[in-house]
Amino acid sequence: MSYFRAKIEAMAGYVPGEQPQDDQFIKLNTNENPYPCSPSVVRAVEETARRGLQKYPHPMAQAFREQAADVLGVPADWILCGNGSDDILTIATRSFVGDGELLRLPYPSYILYKTLAQLQGAKSEEVFFEQDWSLPDAFAATTDDLRLVFLPNPNSPSGTVVPPEQVLQLAQRLPCPLLVDEAYADFAEVHCLDLVTKSEKILVSRSLSKSYALAGLRFGYVVAQPEIIAGLTKVKDSYNCDALSIAAATAALGDQAWLAENRARIVATRQRLTAGMRKLGFAAVDSQANFTWNVHPEQPAKPLYGRLKQDGILVRYMDYPGWGDGLRISVGTDEQIDICLERLAAIL
Ligand SMILES: *Cc1c(COP(=O)(O)O)cnc(C)c1O
Repeated sequence: MSYFRAKIEAMAGYVPGEQPQDDQFIKLNTNENPYPCSPSVVRAVEETARRGLQKYPHPMAQAFREQAADVLGVPADWILCGNGSDDILTIATRSFVGDGELLRLPYPSYILYKTLAQLQGAKSEEVFFEQDWSLPDAFAATTDDLRLVFLPNPNSPSGTVVPPEQVLQLAQRLPCPLLVDEAYADFAEVHCLDLVTKSEKILVSRSLSKSYALAGLRFGYVVAQPEIIAGLTKVKDSYNCDALSIAAATAALGDQAWLAENRARIVATRQRLTAGMRKLGFAAVDSQANFTWNVHPEQPAKPLYGRLKQDGILVRYMDYPGWGDGLRISVGTDEQIDICLERLAAIL
């Protein structure tokens, strides 16, 4: 006999990418930023700790909301903060999708969405991307029990983008909220933030883990119309962001010069990685994120992943049943990418 709810007992649970806690690997498997965060973040954490942590933080992380409002050009009450953007995705799923109702996601994309549906006892519908990573018409289909649609944009593992005008059309056709997961948007040429004013159905989530080099901190946020933010607020934990992370994230957004410089470096190295992989015979997808998706026409991906790991290079082997497998490689430093490409050349 199990003490767990039947649907929890039956589900597998989300398995995050490997996180070895020593520094022996060149780590290109979970899309972390290879460069350290802005020095102003470190100062903010030190100062906050020195001032003392005996009091609860602001429940809405107001300091961050005001900084983000300034940087993004939206009012502060259009922003809700989370303990990483995964927390935002959890809050949205709990807010909109009940037992037996339906959550839609594209496939292949972020595996966590399906896990979130399972936790709610909800159904999930995976709609396959077209071969060119565009969305089929079925993604906009209306069904009675559809309550929430997730769209990672740029998508993972492909790094591809659905153009904002198509995202708006999609939202207009859907009967429910559309959460555009922009974890990688800072590396892309387009984003959907402006659409939030055009449709109350559009929610845009962002993460500080990747583009701000703060995966170890846990901070994300969502932008939506204030009625939506007010509803989501009822569902979140009272103090879902701690004082140190609020101070750090506020400082991070305050240093846009750091972001611009970091983004330029990552985008340049992404080009080096894509070109290098193509030279080795991989079909590497043009990416607008800080990783690329690579399939070799002859060499199976799993042994390649294993050989690279033996050589101290960790990339992400992804196997999507019904779709196929491949290697997702995060954009590291130029030096890390050159070593990865050299090792792959030797293995092939
Ligand atoms: C990394 C990632 C997230 C989670 O980001 P956190 O802010 O670290 O929780 C969300 N969505 C996608 C598609 C991601 O790749």
